[in-house]
Amino acid sequence: MIKKLHQKIQKGEVSSEEICGSYLANVADKDREINAFLDVFDKEEILEQARQVDEKVKQGKEISLLEGIPCAIKDVINIQGKKTTAASKMMENYVAPNDAGVIERLKKEGAIFLGKTNLDEFAMGASTENSAFGITKNPYDLERVSGGSSGGSAAAVAAEMAPWALGTDTGGSIRQPSAFCGVVGFKGTYGQVSRWGVFPMATSYDQVGPIAQSVEDAAIIFKTIAGKDERDNTTIEKSGQVGELEELRGDLTGRRIGYVKEFFEKEGLDKDVKEIVERRIKEAEKAGAKVVEIELPNFKYSLATYYLMITSEVSSNMARIDGIRFGLNEGLLPDSESKSLLDIYKKSRALGLGAEVKRRIILGTYALSAGYYDAYYKKAQAVRELIKNDLKKAFVEVDCIIAPTSPTPAFKIGDKIENPLAMYLADIYTVTANVGMIPAISIPAGWAERDGKKLPVGMQLLGRWWDDWKLLDIAKGMELGE
Ligand code: GLN
Repeated sequence: MIKKLHQKIQKGEVSSEEICGSYLANVADKDREINAFLDVFDKEEILEQARQVDEKVKQGKEISLLEGIPCAIKDVINIQGKKTTAASKMMENYVAPNDAGVIERLKKEGAIFLGKTNLDEFAMGASTENSAFGITKNPYDLERVSGGSSGGSAAAVAAEMAPWALGTDTGGSIRQPSAFCGVVGFKGTYGQVSRWGVFPMATSYDQVGPIAQSVEDAAIIFKTIAGKDERDNTTIEKSGQVGELEELRGDLTGRRIGYVKEFFEKEGLDKDVKEIVERRIKEAEKAGAKVVEIELPNFKYSLATYYLMITSEVSSNMARIDGIRFGLNEGLLPDSESKSLLDIYKKSRALGLGAEVKRRIILGTYALSAGYYDAYYKKAQAVRELIKNDLKKAFVEVDCIIAPTSPTPAFKIGDKIENPLAMYLADIYTVTANVGMIPAISIPAGWAERDGKKLPVGMQLLGRWWDDWKLLDIAKGMELGE
């Protein structure tokens, strides 16, 4: 898709202005219903950028792959001069003073930003129902969720309101909405992509990544945003690990695909999802891949490890949302009854934060408190190592591990919102990659019918540390034809 658009712009067959104009028209046409965007940037500004690219083409200059092609950005990623709300009332008026590291890279390549997309407040959730600014509906069935937390980005790509988008993934927030919306979502190895200028949820888990129409598109975007950023010490120099697009041939011959029986025996795994993913495994075998049964003995602890660690890191990261530096500033108003600093904190946080964010701050503060730290956070860290060791062993035998992305297709709006545990269980297959810090991708796998509507089903491939490119290659081999 991106390559095709690029070639058309480069050859002068279609202008960037026309492309941007048509996506903006789709946004105007569809987004009142879907609510994927929190902010759509000024049309004239966008078209002016597009015309500059078209001018370059007219002058016979070569443009880069993403140049003149529009995209949408999850609203936890800073674009200088634009609002970053994190879908929270607390940040409603926050204007980013700088570009995130990933945005700098995209600007250098000439990408054009259409706007900012909706999410669960501060990226905490799996349905966008926790957004302070309304739910993003699933383009395939408006009564269903788009997934989360990057639901706005996934819905925007699925509904052709943007050819591609950026999301963030702490425990599945790129992959699960991509599965629900029938698009591709990729999270690289922790440390591949800069987190600088991205509002942190859980620092040792967060990664920025692409949501796109195809594996190749995801690879193009990933290659652009990956690499060392001095301002994020967890990033590494882009090396041979991120290869060339031509290397993505999608040949499955000899590829060893890990099959974990436990994944497919889980209670709560939808019958259609199970059948679809198992069918795709058989097809991969026919295409030359070798399916190897492996075990991840500590997989059963992934979800608990994840929720313990991330709530702890959330409580620490959210301390800055204090109603003074960031936040509502309610307690600071002249007519306020606040008498102390604590009053200010209490007032602005009580008014400004949603229930899920408060729940996580409370859980995390508890887990980190004196006397509990060793029993909870430290223990969870030790279990994280056990899970990593399981993965290390597995990746001696296999090139990737296959799993459903989500146990079910997109669920109905309202189905899980009253039951946090049910919502957390939706992350059962995605969190392992974040706990293990490995790359993982969700690709469309098939369709399930519900209430007379066809809903997309996604499947996941998990790869070895820094084998991002190999994972993308295998994913390309398993991608459904158009
Ligand atoms: N659904 C997961 C959670 O609520 C994932 C969130 C994310 O990846 N940002 O924590």
